Amino acid sequence: SRAAAADAPITPGALADGTAVPLLANLGKPGAAAEAVGLGAEGVGLFRTEFLFLSSSQAPTVAEQKAAYTELLAAFPGKKVVVRVLDAGADKPLPFLNDAHEENPALGLRGIRALRASEDILREQLTALAEADAATSADLWVMAPMIGTVEETRYFTALAREYGIKTAGVMVEVPSSALLADRVLAHADFASIGTNDLTQYTMAADRLLGSVAAFQDPWHPAVLRLVREVGAAGQARGKPVGICGEAAADPLLAVVLVGLGATSLSMAPTALADVRATLLQHSLDDARRIADAALATDDPEQARRAAHAAATREK
Ligand code: PEP
Ligand code: MG
Repeated sequence: SRAAAADAPITPGALADGTAVPLLANLGKPGAAAEAVGLGAEGVGLFRTEFLFLSSSQAPTVAEQKAAYTELLAAFPGKKVVVRVLDAGADKPLPFLNDAHEENPALGLRGIRALRASEDILREQLTALAEADAATSADLWVMAPMIGTVEETRYFTALAREYGIKTAGVMVEVPSSALLADRVLAHADFASIGTNDLTQYTMAADRLLGSVAAFQDPWHPAVLRLVREVGAAGQARGKPVGICGEAAADPLLAVVLVGLGATSLSMAPTALADVRATLLQHSLDDARRIADAALATDDPEQARRAAHAAATREK
């Protein structure tokens, strides 16, 4: 019955063959943690710290950041929580980090580039994260946005380790770092693919611009090929590769992403139930075959159809 289903315990994310695929939440406020746990989030795959400070004109203090991160981590005892350092610029400008006028802010001083230009702010954030980590029992992972080079990877991971951050990784959302994923993952402990920006930059189409919205489709086989690069590099190096862009919330695409080598999926908590149910219908071998079908196409529409046909055949 409906009531019984609602009362049934939510099982951890897994494929039909038992392969674990942790299902995590994308969050922007610590106060949203309890609801995410109720919807079955096994941890946090993306905490967008910039959401805390979008209306601040000044950089947040260490004390106010520590309070927010402690509240977040305390909601996930023993669980993985991936916190992203400030991703300022383009669609998420922060006055205290982005002051220059830029013609093309998505291609400007954003993400790790902006933090590096104001390294004190990055150092204060890492200080606050390390203090919150020490005060709680969650498994804190910290990652940097908009990493485009191996050198930026080395810079960020070395800095994070200075502050005692045990697990330091990168977001892969710029095609250059997907293409160099094997080199990037030589230095980072993990990668998390941001499919929103990875699609924007692969297709050279502003994700905020309605006139080119049709290009913003993570089913594009060009995007899937980049995800495959990262998945293969993670497998070769034994390092986790998560997905934290909106693509993970599309149940069939989630299967494809796992087939391409993703080891965890993070999404808006309301999407968790449908993704969980769909993963349970396919084995890892099935997921790989479905992914291969999607890869061998010309465009997003064909990729969707091919994946759907392959998924229907598998069942
Ligand atoms: C992404 O780019 O896919 C991502 C998860 O980051 P954001 O949407 O915050 O840019
Ligand atoms: Mg992004």
